[in-house]
Amino acid sequence: MIQSLTTHQISGLVDGEVISQSGQGLVAWISIDSRNILEPSKTLFVALKGAKFDGHDFIKSVHEEGVRSFLIQKGSTVLDNLTTDSTFIVVDNLHEALQKLAAYERSLFSGPLVGITGSNGKTIVKEWLGQVLGQKYAVAKSPKSYNSQVGVPLSVFGIEQNHQVAIMEAGISKPREMMKLEAILKPEIGIFTNIGTAHEEGFESQNQKLAEKAILFENSKLIIYRKEHSKIHDLLTSKYDSNRLISWSDTAGADYTLSIKKESDRSKILLMKPDLSVFTFSVPFADQASLENIRHVIVASLSLGLDEALIQEGLNHLKAVEMRLTLKPGINDCLIIDDTYNNDLAGLRLALDFMAAQRPKRRKVIVLSDMLQVGNTEIVYTEVGELLNFHQIDFFIGVGEKIKLVTNSYQGKSVFFPNTEALISHISQEDFENDLILVTGARKFGFEAVVNRLQQRIHGTTLEINLNALTHNYNFYKTQILPNTKVMVMVKAFAYGGGAAEIANHLQQLRADYLAVAYTDEGVALREEGIRLPIMVLNPVQESFIHLEKFDLEPVVYSPDFFRQLGKFCQNRNISMKVHLDMDTGMHRLGFEQEHVQELISMIKSYPQLIIESIYTHLVGADEEIHRDFSLAQLRSFVEMCDTISGTLDYKPMRHALNSAGIIQFPEYQMDMVRLGIGLYGVEVSGKFETHLKPISTLKTTISQIKSIPQGQTIGYSRKGKMDEDGKIATIALGYADGYDRRFSNGKGFVLIDGKKAPVIGNVCMDMTMINITGIEANEGDEVIIYGPGISLKELSERIGTIPYELLTNISSRVKRVYYLD
Ligand SMILES: *Cc1c(COP(=O)(O)O)cnc(C)c1O
Repeated sequence: MIQSLTTHQISGLVDGEVISQSGQGLVAWISIDSRNILEPSKTLFVALKGAKFDGHDFIKSVHEEGVRSFLIQKGSTVLDNLTTDSTFIVVDNLHEALQKLAAYERSLFSGPLVGITGSNGKTIVKEWLGQVLGQKYAVAKSPKSYNSQVGVPLSVFGIEQNHQVAIMEAGISKPREMMKLEAILKPEIGIFTNIGTAHEEGFESQNQKLAEKAILFENSKLIIYRKEHSKIHDLLTSKYDSNRLISWSDTAGADYTLSIKKESDRSKILLMKPDLSVFTFSVPFADQASLENIRHVIVASLSLGLDEALIQEGLNHLKAVEMRLTLKPGINDCLIIDDTYNNDLAGLRLALDFMAAQRPKRRKVIVLSDMLQVGNTEIVYTEVGELLNFHQIDFFIGVGEKIKLVTNSYQGKSVFFPNTEALISHISQEDFENDLILVTGARKFGFEAVVNRLQQRIHGTTLEINLNALTHNYNFYKTQILPNTKVMVMVKAFAYGGGAAEIANHLQQLRADYLAVAYTDEGVALREEGIRLPIMVLNPVQESFIHLEKFDLEPVVYSPDFFRQLGKFCQNRNISMKVHLDMDTGMHRLGFEQEHVQELISMIKSYPQLIIESIYTHLVGADEEIHRDFSLAQLRSFVEMCDTISGTLDYKPMRHALNSAGIIQFPEYQMDMVRLGIGLYGVEVSGKFETHLKPISTLKTTISQIKSIPQGQTIGYSRKGKMDEDGKIATIALGYADGYDRRFSNGKGFVLIDGKKAPVIGNVCMDMTMINITGIEANEGDEVIIYGPGISLKELSERIGTIPYELLTNISSRVKRVYYLD
């Protein structure tokens, strides 16, 4: 923060009421997350309520860590013993209070603040602009895509005294949100990137969305936009005085002309300024989106007083690299967190939090470069060292001239190299085993090479899992059920292909209540990866009983014989075990039927070692309207069976029946718990809430070769594909052995190349597939999307007569999974 505040000042700023006051400590940090509090005695904990959890539930544990200042919701209870040594400020609305505090801190910042909004490119423009401006100024940026009602205030608290320019993005999903963000940010300079159809749901029309976004610029002195976006142009010119607007365009007629000349994989950007002076930039990009983002960056940099040569110098280092934290499988069972794009404290904090959320490994290792343009270096590196201590980093590898300064405060083991080449020539693969390694550094250090060295060889195909989308989907289902209903997440079949260990770990972070796997082995693997949530095993076998005991797994019991076997096992070993009873109400797969109920009741009496943790049933057609009556009959008969059984027990087992579709269709039957499966992975099978979910996985590969083929020639095995005209085909590095279904052959399937649909031509081969790319601009090595955003699993599965479940779970284990937060 720019200025520390007393609790008294804070209470005044947020119109709060102090209900207990103790001490006069200054608040230098604002936190809404109990897990990453660095200096507890100087932290104000804001007990926000989210979809996931309620901050008030964490007050006790945060207090134990040493926090003594709290901002809480009126009406929430405060434990009496805490008031003796802490200050509690009570407000009507915590979000508003957070925003007021942020507005105050913002008002103390005297440098220019650049506010960015628009549908696409906000984060990229912010990051790139930050890099270019960073050559001249100390820049504060909002971390990643922190652009929401909560993200914006938190970003503002990241501005510190030594910063000279701040760049913040603002995103909205419904009307009346932007005025609140504007009240905080009041950007001197605005950038309106573009307008698309994303997030249309919350708005009545595109025009309404456009007008809402433009509210960010109410008080801006300069507003930068592209004139070709005619709706933006019309709106801004009607709303704001022309001397505040700075337009740019491909062609003459705007304040700046910035035309493009493409040269294979690079481009030249010819600039003509209002004073008619000219300059030619050269950039390593040729795609439309990047070129648009870069031109916003050029105009903003010029407006902030950079000259063309310095801007060009900054552009030289831009790369279309991952702007996101990515988790990748590494050599010797290591896990690599790739954050090679990031180079500031706010980003480092996020990366360390992400690291803290991973499964435990032998050591925590971090590779970090010099931090460029951070202002007062002594202070910054000391702070970095303290962060490393706080996160208990075991081994630190520093690269650069200044980074050694972290040893002022860092107490762990460390080693230093003057540059990346020196580091790489010293890395031996044997040095790392079962470690968790965070790689993060400034662009010019080229740490991609370090990541390349440490990661497992990835053949061209990867399945990328978006952990933010997973969180989003989880929260969506949470909003469909009552607060006290528990959630069991089905992570069977490698978490529907997504990778069981990582997804289970993420669910543990989200505080899911239960996990379920199909087989005991899957449960054992999760325990070995450090997963502590209760785990139900759907189909345990007798041979695995010993593992159930050893790894604290809870089996499903589905027949009288099985009940007896397990009962005897526990009797002999003199142990008790939690079990779950599967009731067959119509699925006719596994499970007790109505006629078994009396026998079951007497067995429960005979084997008190088996504790009935829950009783459940499974619906056969929850996703289809025509089976509605059948589903209801199943549910009613289940309730009856449960009542009969529970009536004879002196404790109360949980009851659960609903899968993903069931949660949507029969919420009145959510009972004690629901079992979430495919919905978490982004497919809403009942079709009612499709747009509310986000696809979590993207299957990608690359083009190995492109050929021009004349009309009449055939493609692939059995000559099944035929060129109807002269054209081009691309061979991609993916076949049925990777899980790309052979039924996609001969035009049944299609892929996305540069956003355009291209059909499969000929038969899918074992490791490769040919795609007709006639009329599409593409190069060897280009990325190809097989499934993911923009290419619906539902549509694809229908084309070959199957269901999304099968496509997801078929992706072969040889396809590497990488996980990211965007
Ligand atoms: C797989 C499974 C689920 C989850 O089903 P979805 O349709 O993926 O939500 C729920 N319950 C049981 C018993 C299952 O086997």
